[in-house]
Amino acid sequence: MTERPEPRQDLALLPSYHSPQVDVEVRLNTNEAPDGPPAEFMAALAAAVAALPLHRYPDRSAKKLRNALAQRYGRTMGEVFVANGSNEVLQSLLLTYGGPGRSLALFEPTYGMHAQIARTTGTAVLARPRQPDFSLAPETVAEVVETEQPDVVFLCSPNNPTGAQDPPGLVADTLAQVESYGGLLLVDEAYGQFADQSAVSLIGESRSLVVSRTFSKTWALAGVRLGYLLGPAWCVSELEKASLPYHLGALTQAAGLLALDYQEEMDARVDFLCSERQRVFSALETMPVTVWPSDTNFILFRPEEKEGRVVWQELLDQSILIRDFSAEPGLAGCLRVTMGTSQENNRFLAALEEVLS
Ligand SMILES: *Cc1c(COP(=O)(O)O)cnc(C)c1O
Repeated sequence: MTERPEPRQDLALLPSYHSPQVDVEVRLNTNEAPDGPPAEFMAALAAAVAALPLHRYPDRSAKKLRNALAQRYGRTMGEVFVANGSNEVLQSLLLTYGGPGRSLALFEPTYGMHAQIARTTGTAVLARPRQPDFSLAPETVAEVVETEQPDVVFLCSPNNPTGAQDPPGLVADTLAQVESYGGLLLVDEAYGQFADQSAVSLIGESRSLVVSRTFSKTWALAGVRLGYLLGPAWCVSELEKASLPYHLGALTQAAGLLALDYQEEMDARVDFLCSERQRVFSALETMPVTVWPSDTNFILFRPEEKEGRVVWQELLDQSILIRDFSAEPGLAGCLRVTMGTSQENNRFLAALEEVLS
């Protein structure tokens, strides 16, 4: 008899992150872009890939991509860290500034991967609740920061899955608090392009602030896995030390670099998704559901006369997949729908109306 090796005890207790990947006609469950990238982009990418020397390791410091990103934000290459999705950005950050004996403060309900990555990196999680309307009270943030002095604080604005931005001034106030004892503040801006505020302008060499963003949502490149962080150069160089050599492949670097040439197309898509969000929001307001305002490409809502889980299943029976949060702590009964094409959104609204009637 051989004994099977046991995984780390703290990992064994983890539920793994999952949004079911089932085959459906209308997929509105993971906040992806409804349409693929522009055809000209795909053609240019194919040509770029054909010319890549794939027998060689990629540029380890991803200079072209980081320079192009830096230019967009009026920063220098040394202030940009790139990785395989912003999830890997967050993992690198917690490997570097979290870990055993250290802590991360976050405000729930929020993006589930924040706590998950904390646990896989051995970082203690200090979770505090948002208000009943899902807004984040500055007093809640100040309380945990002042009493626990967490090594890292995560804000998520706009917040997933609830949709709204944090109050103006919260980042600056929190930053002053964490800097007083040597903490680090991250703002996850995965939906930053859909919002009218950003923490990027507060970044500076003397500030302990970093902002993460992704190509997965606005840039219609969830399949590529590319995210980035903007922050002080001293922080970026620490993150690079903790990353595996050549962690960002040549194909990923090429795709990201090319995508930045399609800014106008992407802006137009963001505008379209925001107008669809307005339209879907207004339609939901006429139904027996509670619906929360959103600054993103998704909307959180809660059916009031029927169980969320049942509504989710009945939509799935019509080949419409949305995200079920109904059993999650703090989100009882809630469902989240990603904005799709007009046609997909119409199908969702018609099916929901029928399911709720
Ligand atoms: C989707 C999402 C991410 C990121 O994902 P990647 O695909 O790993 O870039 C990060 N944070 C939030 C809040 C998200 O919703």
